[in-house]
Amino acid sequence: MQQQNQYLKKVYVQTWGCQMNVADTERMLAHLGTCNYKPTDEVNEADFILLNTCHIREKARHKLVSRLGELKPLKEKNPDVILAIAGCVAQAESEALAKEVPFVDMIIGPDQIEQLPSLLEEVVRKHEASKGIVDSFHNSFSPFVLTKFDGKEKGYSIPIDVVPPFYDEIKNEVSRYVNIIKGCNNFCTFCVVPYTRGREKSRLQEEILQEVNHLVSKGVKEIILLGQNVNSYGLDLIGATDIHSSGGKMPFSDLLYEVSNVQGVERIRFTTSNPHDFTPTLAKAFEDLPKVTNSFHLAVQSGSDRILDRMNRQYTRNEYLERVGWIRKVRPQIAFSTDIIVGFPGESQQDFEDTLSLVEEMKYAFIYAFKYSIRKGTPATRFHDQVPEEIKDKRLQLLLDVQKKETLKQNLAEIGSVREVLILYKNRKEEDSWYGRTNEGRLVKVQTSMPCIGFTLSVKIEDANLIALVGRVCQ
Ligand code: SF4
Repeated sequence: MQQQNQYLKKVYVQTWGCQMNVADTERMLAHLGTCNYKPTDEVNEADFILLNTCHIREKARHKLVSRLGELKPLKEKNPDVILAIAGCVAQAESEALAKEVPFVDMIIGPDQIEQLPSLLEEVVRKHEASKGIVDSFHNSFSPFVLTKFDGKEKGYSIPIDVVPPFYDEIKNEVSRYVNIIKGCNNFCTFCVVPYTRGREKSRLQEEILQEVNHLVSKGVKEIILLGQNVNSYGLDLIGATDIHSSGGKMPFSDLLYEVSNVQGVERIRFTTSNPHDFTPTLAKAFEDLPKVTNSFHLAVQSGSDRILDRMNRQYTRNEYLERVGWIRKVRPQIAFSTDIIVGFPGESQQDFEDTLSLVEEMKYAFIYAFKYSIRKGTPATRFHDQVPEEIKDKRLQLLLDVQKKETLKQNLAEIGSVREVLILYKNRKEEDSWYGRTNEGRLVKVQTSMPCIGFTLSVKIEDANLIALVGRVCQ
């Protein structure tokens, strides 16, 4: 109990977007923990409100604007509440955003997270200074904006000694993301990431292994290596511009071997991989390392070479299938998943059918599919042959229907089998019921009366639906 009261203040965080943003939120909470802020789920009781934003689709930006509209009255009522915008919208629109929402206190980019404590001090000083100013809400200072990239030539570091205040709760966590690389050098014509996250920069291998060892000591069993483009991990550290100029070296594969050697690590997954940046070395790692799970997320985006070229994906349909072939040769049971964009500018009916036929040929376990969305500042915005929304809607629905059939077929085919399931968390809705994942990444609801979080159990699959398998622990 003594521990709790040391926290003077409360912080409410809302995070949108990808796992990189989720990982950044934890880093920010870690830093705020050193300033005596503790997380709260109640926005009305927060002293600090932090919105960690996503810029990947127009809808994401709309969510931010409407959320700020909801929070403005709260800030008007109590100008001392600190309101901050972080993440990719902050990075992409910094000064413009400051003009658009002057009642916000700080706008901080992903590369400036380590500056959060000092920026917080400045804001608190600003608030003190504006005390006594009549109607300080409208008359106080404009937001602090800190969005420059860290400007380092190569590499980046995430201090792991800044321990999040809730680290003790990690004890219950079985699977954790570990950031290994940030940014991207690929410049796909639809993507904002290279503009909001900068150039690829990798963490040193020893720092990553230090964090993995720390997490394992806390009971974590599954490590998920994270980055916008993990295949390019370490290329900046060896001075290579891309995998094709690294003299056949693939530092990412080397990292997989090292993480696999850490005692206590039971499973390794990674996301996200770009097909352009991998060599047969990665297939060798899948062959040699049983801890690397039988699930692989390999983003394809389209099945049409013409569209892949317009997206600047730097591979063709056949090159994608060739790389899939390298992995399937050593792991025939592997479950692939992917990302697909429908309605990219200029996408003809034939291009879309190429995507459908690729999905049918690949037999993915599941897919993330989205309608193309114009992103300010990206080259595809200037493409004149934009696809009408209603055609995008139709294509997306058709694609999802095709995939749902395949996912259900694969899940139903699991009935009667016995699978090794890593139990991740308790099912809050049912007694003696837990959720875990097979080595292929399939979600399983497991019936057993024994507490089993963190254990890998042999489970007889008795039923299945589109979302999950259902099974009972083998006696
Ligand atoms: S590889 Fe991924 S993160 Fe990089 S530009 Fe392309 S879509 Fe964006």
